[in-house]
Amino acid sequence: MDAISYERAGDVAGAVRAAQQPGAVFIGGGTNLLDLMKGGVARPVRLIDITHISGLDSVTTLPGGGIRIGALVRNSDAANHALVREQYPLLSQALLAGASAQLRNMATVGGNLLQRTRCGYFYDTAFTQCNKRMPGSGCAALDGHNRMHAILGASPQCIAVNPSDMSVALAALDALVRVSGPDGERTIAFADFHRLPGDRPDVDTTLQPGELITAVDLPPPLFSAHSHYLKVRDRASYAFALVSVAAALQMDGERVRSARIALGGVAHKPWRAHAAEQMLSGQPLSQATLKQAAAAALSGAQPRHDNAFKVQLAQRAIVRAVNQAAGYAGGVA
Ligand code: SF4
Repeated sequence: MDAISYERAGDVAGAVRAAQQPGAVFIGGGTNLLDLMKGGVARPVRLIDITHISGLDSVTTLPGGGIRIGALVRNSDAANHALVREQYPLLSQALLAGASAQLRNMATVGGNLLQRTRCGYFYDTAFTQCNKRMPGSGCAALDGHNRMHAILGASPQCIAVNPSDMSVALAALDALVRVSGPDGERTIAFADFHRLPGDRPDVDTTLQPGELITAVDLPPPLFSAHSHYLKVRDRASYAFALVSVAAALQMDGERVRSARIALGGVAHKPWRAHAAEQMLSGQPLSQATLKQAAAAALSGAQPRHDNAFKVQLAQRAIVRAVNQAAGYAGGVA
């Protein structure tokens, strides 16, 4: 049995200081970390409990518009907060699509950003090939069961996907991640927060050692009238996405003024479909244009032997999600 020490941080500076010790990790809701520890995938020697730090558990408005969601806000509280429901319904929908009610009551916004892939080879230590768990060991999923795995942005080192629903909505909303670390505070654009696997699939984010997520900032709401989160999964609840789509539109009548589309379940990070966004923006929302945009979003897909179905599934999900966001519930999918 591994010895693990425990320390309760009283403030952000104390947590960052404590995290400088070798083998230290932060623990918030613990809904992913404890699973990883029980499975022997994560072996921290020191847990820094951040749940008693004050000031990180609220949703507040920002000067000039926008909101700040503290890193310790529970997923269920964020999803049901009046400001989130009214101004960022896309985020509320994505949060409520994730996990189960019990898990959402425990999981924090900061922890959700850091949840690790659900690749079965990563979680099962009986498999000796997993570059994410043991760098340099190989990737059992390349020629193994890869139905749930990436079709975009993968590398020969790792084809895992990011499992978060919340992060797909935050990618579409151009959120900012606020962090504190040994060198002070900084803000990370959401697009730069999660990494593609490249040759370091063991590193999921651009956080530096000892940095603590303190909040997520959302810019002023532009898409509250026209957004939709669509999650396609094997079960109606408590299942990770095969494919998900966060669609957010600004509409002038039937013309799309601007579009944001992010995909989940297809890559090592939430995947912004910039080409599709550009094809839709400034155009009347026709089904022909929408299908062309959806095809463009998946044009670079490289499916594996078990997950080729995701290419067409993602295209159809984009069509449906954008139609729903526009208010065309009966749109062709
Ligand atoms: Fe490990 Fe990534 Fe390969 Fe899964 S896909 S076995 S997480 S290296």
